Amino acid sequence: MTEQATLSVCSICGETALRTCRDAVPIEFREGTFLIEGFEHDHCSACGEDIIKSGQMDAMQHAAIVVARTQLGRLTSDDIHGLRHDLGLTQSELERQLGVGTGTVGRWERGTALQSHMADNFMRLLWAHPELCVESGLVARESRGPYRKRVSSQD
Ligand SMILES: [Zn+2]
Repeated sequence: MTEQATLSVCSICGETALRTCRDAVPIEFREGTFLIEGFEHDHCSACGEDIIKSGQMDAMQHAAIVVARTQLGRLTSDDIHGLRHDLGLTQSELERQLGVGTGTVGRWERGTALQSHMADNFMRLLWAHPELCVESGLVARESRGPYRKRVSSQD
């Protein structure tokens, strides 16, 4: 490129090799590294570090989750919101069905957290077989505690 780059000092390696750019940035999740594009940030050509402005982190994380879901074939935020409504469940009811922590479904629906492969599969299963919701809900209500001795009865 012929544009005159203004280089500044890299706080990681100390070289004067930091420039502002919009190159793709790799964002790492447990499931892999995903490249997101179009975000202004500083890149050091000496050590390779990408330095992201703190105000950009949320937007970049959000964009990375969209990319990750697309590449991994996961449900989108709209999918999750839609299937939850189809199933007639509140966020906390869906959390109980899946066995995930409080607030998790909200983070998936806002696109601030990436659902695991298992949770994704489980939600698709519930969506395709809504009767499973009722059954697992009943099981959860009936079994209190890990050891509930089953008394053999006539049935
Ligand atoms: Zn550097």
